[in-house]
Amino acid sequence: MSEGTRVLVLNAGSSSVKYQLIDMLDGAHLASGLVERIGEPSGRLVHTPHTGERHETVQAFPDHSAALKAVAEELAAEGLGLDSPELAAIGHRVVHGGMRFTEPTVITDEVLREIRRLIPVAPLHNPANITGIEVARTLRPDLPQVAVFDTAFHASMPEYAARYAIDKAVADEHRVRRYGFHGTSHQYVSRATARLLGRDPAEVNVIVLHLGNGASASAVSGGRCVDTSMGLTPLEGLVMGTRSGDIDAGVVFHLHRVGGLSIDEIDDLLNRRSGLRGLCGDNDMREIMRRAEEGDADAGLAFDSYIHRLRKYIGGYYAVLGRVDAIVFTAGVGENAAAVRAAATAGLEELGIEVDPELNSVRTGEPRIISPEYARVAVAVVPTDEELEIARQAFALVHRQQREREESGASKESGAPAKSSGSTD
Ligand code: ADP
Repeated sequence: MSEGTRVLVLNAGSSSVKYQLIDMLDGAHLASGLVERIGEPSGRLVHTPHTGERHETVQAFPDHSAALKAVAEELAAEGLGLDSPELAAIGHRVVHGGMRFTEPTVITDEVLREIRRLIPVAPLHNPANITGIEVARTLRPDLPQVAVFDTAFHASMPEYAARYAIDKAVADEHRVRRYGFHGTSHQYVSRATARLLGRDPAEVNVIVLHLGNGASASAVSGGRCVDTSMGLTPLEGLVMGTRSGDIDAGVVFHLHRVGGLSIDEIDDLLNRRSGLRGLCGDNDMREIMRRAEEGDADAGLAFDSYIHRLRKYIGGYYAVLGRVDAIVFTAGVGENAAAVRAAATAGLEELGIEVDPELNSVRTGEPRIISPEYARVAVAVVPTDEELEIARQAFALVHRQQREREESGASKESGAPAKSSGSTD
């Protein structure tokens, strides 16, 4: 077991790999980057070192293995190679952990088999995550590889929030329930918000609004998720860049029976051609706000629908939590779009929710409070850092296991009964 303090975080998508190398001594991001268009004739690797210029390599990356080897070379060129003893673990973002994986988990053959068994509930994401893990294991077979699941933080949802009101036997047979996603972000941001308020996460209630291209809301009570807007898949909930969010399931039957669309066509419609893009042709909030400002009716409607859904979730989660200490905005839209934050919270003074226009318009990458001091509910903007959270969780797990092994080794040597590590790895 190495004495290393660094964790390489990998987020493998179907045609891309994002990576960050983080030093856990101080949370410094030593290097980061992205390989895009894997498997296409022309791919691109953008590498950003800790200090120095980011640079771009345009070439074909036939598969994930070629992409990760190129990443390893970039890192090696800076003395940060994967063979470095400084590397303590590789942390993998895995989208779906199902009911089984509610904690970060050291990846074994058996764990990998289980992640593969979850492909039917995450067909777009888990296969790519698995490929990333397999390639990383061949590059450093001796190093602990840890899976951190997007669904894990939501596993604490009470059964009445996690269940769909459908036949229980059918739901159980097909593992149909609300799992939730973006969990690493909701966990990181809700804790960071408690810190920003100078309070213990165990004593605060927070509504987290993760508004990126995909978007989700969650209600977090005392550090535990009690409800979240995404469900079996990331399609449920808020209006998103290209996903519809909440919709009457009857729309699916109607489009199939009356509209003649196949199930695959409806899947594509709801996941890729809906949401903001469906309503106005654009899915970038900057462009939508610009068009709406110029009086474009479709863009105005898209913005209003987005805000309306957001406000319904804020109201709903206020009732779920009973008392709200903070509402926090994060991810691309949440961190940058002051107009979205203002519209989502407008007219809610009766609920103790207010935003100070001046504080709201400040542009900075720092976590900050944008509500006036007297407001009962703090409204905050906290940049998310899913990679740092994955690195933290992976590092903490690897260290805990190392300590347990050392303790059990020491007790064996001294003849004392060994303490169980509770781990199968
Ligand atoms: P994801 O990780 O889901 O792809 P991000 O969290 O990076 O998404 O958010 C991307 C979205 O953030 C973009 O689609 C864009 O709409 C929005 N965005 C980024 N910058 C701004 C900005 N300055 N103002 C408004 N929206 C922004």
